[in-house]
Amino acid sequence: MISVIIPAYNEEGNVERTASAVGRILSENDIDYEIVFINDGSADRTWQKMQAMVNSDKRITAVNFSRNFGKESAIFAGLELARGNCAVLFDCDLQFPVETVVEMYRIWEKGGVDIVEGRKKSRGKENPVYKGFSLLFYKLIGKGSGLDMQDASDFKLMDRCVIDALNRMPERLTFFRAMSGWVGFSTEKVWFEVAEREIGTSKWKPSQLVHFAVNNITSFTSAPLQIVTAFGVITFLISIILGVNTLYNKFFGNSEAGFPTVIILQLLTSSIIMFSLGVIGYYISKIYEEIKQRPRYIIRDIVRQREDKDKNG
Ligand code: UDP
Ligand code: MG
Repeated sequence: MISVIIPAYNEEGNVERTASAVGRILSENDIDYEIVFINDGSADRTWQKMQAMVNSDKRITAVNFSRNFGKESAIFAGLELARGNCAVLFDCDLQFPVETVVEMYRIWEKGGVDIVEGRKKSRGKENPVYKGFSLLFYKLIGKGSGLDMQDASDFKLMDRCVIDALNRMPERLTFFRAMSGWVGFSTEKVWFEVAEREIGTSKWKPSQLVHFAVNNITSFTSAPLQIVTAFGVITFLISIILGVNTLYNKFFGNSEAGFPTVIILQLLTSSIIMFSLGVIGYYISKIYEEIKQRPRYIIRDIVRQREDKDKNG
């Protein structure tokens, strides 16, 4: 059986369409499945719609968070509750093609491949500034973590052994896209075209994207700390040269007042120090977040039909 994990936040117009599109294609292909919906604190009627679907379909499980915890938390809740031999992550807005789920399943079914990951053929219609930044972000995090993250997405099918491995990772600040690469396992790629979102809007605001990038870079790689250290080494070397030069001028040359130089150096060094402190501060805040050991999410309800409902009604 395959578990289809679908996080949803304010997707009242989409939940039914998504469930029926996924259900139809998997039934047509004779693939046994379950759908695990996670309602990530939606403010609209998403949860009511999910509950209604559970009543009429025993393949659907619906999970209700106590508030909005973010897609990452929803993904990990879904992985924990999935009961399939494999699981695939699917967005509730049908931006991932359902046919690709079948393609992934067929690859997994043959055996020998534990992760079938979807890579974006193109990024769909996107703002060029956003595109540029996301390219830079994936370059940075890829370099820092040693993982190939170009065109990566959350659209992945995982074998049970991968799900179990991910469920054993204890950190609170998760980044599924990178963690599912870090665990290893034999991986095959399939390419898919990102569709346009037809109903509702993307949940991302520009400020959230900056947050997302900075957060994930600092929780997944220590590269920024190394960059800051390298900065320190370079400025130290420059200061030796300037220092020798200054002393030479004082004793043997014509020593000038050099007031502008003092100002510039003062500004430069203090800003480098402040910047470095900021980077270190970020890491300290990550440690603080982790050490609190709070749960990744809080579940308010889980609804699914009883296993024996078929027989007893
Ligand atoms: N989502 C979620 N919690 C959030 C934001 C988004 O569960 O806080 C879900 C959303 O309902 C959708 C998926 O994550 O199923 C992808 O979200 P979205 O389409 O907004 O992101 P994009 O496709 O633009 O990256
Ligand atoms: Mg989307």
